[in-house]
Amino acid sequence: MQDSPITPTVDFDRDGVQHGFLKLPHSHDTSAWGSIMIPITVAKNGEGPTILFTGANHGDEYEGPVALFDLAHQIKADELSGRVIIVPGMNYPAFQAGRRTSPIDGGNMNRVFPGDPEGTFTEKIADYFTRILLPLADYVVDFHAGGKTMEFLPFCCAHVLEDKEQQARCIDAMKAFNAPNSVMLLEIDAANMYDTTAENMGKVFISTELAGGGSTSSYTVGIAKKGIRNILRHAGITKGDLEVSDTLNLDMPDQRCFVFSETSGLVEHYIDLGDEVKTGQLIAKVHNIERTGVPPQEYYSGIDGIYMGRHFPGLITLGDFLGVVAVPM
Ligand code: ZN
Repeated sequence: MQDSPITPTVDFDRDGVQHGFLKLPHSHDTSAWGSIMIPITVAKNGEGPTILFTGANHGDEYEGPVALFDLAHQIKADELSGRVIIVPGMNYPAFQAGRRTSPIDGGNMNRVFPGDPEGTFTEKIADYFTRILLPLADYVVDFHAGGKTMEFLPFCCAHVLEDKEQQARCIDAMKAFNAPNSVMLLEIDAANMYDTTAENMGKVFISTELAGGGSTSSYTVGIAKKGIRNILRHAGITKGDLEVSDTLNLDMPDQRCFVFSETSGLVEHYIDLGDEVKTGQLIAKVHNIERTGVPPQEYYSGIDGIYMGRHFPGLITLGDFLGVVAVPM
């Protein structure tokens, strides 16, 4: 296969802390021989496992980038046994623009894996992760949040995998991360995700959804930072005991967990995140905004559980995600 067009300015095998870039040529109107410069930090000390941290797989999700830029400038090689690779802004053009997808090619990073070295810019970045970075990693932590259109109870998640031994290692990592909620996440469509690519390579993979709305809070960034400290200790890369608080274990058994809007309009919420909900209970109404006097469309939960995520903006469009209910284990 074609070599990646991306060149790193860091040496992944060198001991010490290096701050540099993944350099992807991008010729455009204001920079004929320019490049997309994706920041990367590599911190290594001797032999040991490698952990790969990523944020801004979706460019409008901020807890991961905040915690990872903070980690990158504070990390000290002499406190490590192994290697830490930090990419705070994975889909960097999207992150710079504050958008979920790339403004250059419209690419949604988590829907283009395994990527293509001769494809779009987003596909080229994905290909670099698939063929260069993921093979270096034993542990992979990909930070997500709800972005501008969704909001979640903050959780760390693992997936149901065919390889139960690998699944157990992922669940152990999720427990070590110790977010307030730990979820066995059911994806709407797992094809072409970074998650699936990493899991198919046998990696210990965990992800998060830490609140959302396109911003952060000290609480949610604190969850990300504690999770980073814990997973580094869990992997044996740093020393120390895990910082453990209560976590609520949640499962998503099937598609009954999801509610999607079949109307466009103004959302009126009837329950809030963290509320207990019963099958058939009213979750939200969507009011027609084109005229008065039209009864709103009502939406109900398909399962008993905890209201774990919701549509964030005040207005909603036909086909949008409206809410998700997860089941305590
Ligand atoms: Zn995301």
